[in-house]
Amino acid sequence: MATSQNQYEINKTEEEWRKSLTPEQFHVLRKHGTERAGTSALDKQYGQGTYVCAGCGQPLFTSETKYNSRTGWPSFYAPLEDAIASSVDRTLFMVRTEVHCNRCGGHLGHVFDDGPAPTGKRYCMNGVALDFKPE
Ligand code: FE
Repeated sequence: MATSQNQYEINKTEEEWRKSLTPEQFHVLRKHGTERAGTSALDKQYGQGTYVCAGCGQPLFTSETKYNSRTGWPSFYAPLEDAIASSVDRTLFMVRTEVHCNRCGGHLGHVFDDGPAPTGKRYCMNGVALDFKPE
């Protein structure tokens, strides 16, 4: 039963996660939920700093790679090195690449191939899955 829970450095039971996260964070990070577009304050903020995982605090993105994708979700063209992992998501009748924190496994969002230079990637993140640490 515990096999898939042991692949991350941070392992908590569902009950422990439920206690340490807000209901919105739990829904996105642990249940692959998606916040409603335009609801995150982080979408519209461009101050200098670091975006860390709301589940475990691992740094994931910096303000350097943040851009306005006009989707209503905080978007970045590149993550920090060795911070995220991805997997194929075949839900909702689409094939998408799901992105999660590689330290706690928390679901962050998806990555698409319609981003800006230099990577051409759009990391479409749920703001509720991130905490912003200003510089
Ligand atoms: Fe994490």
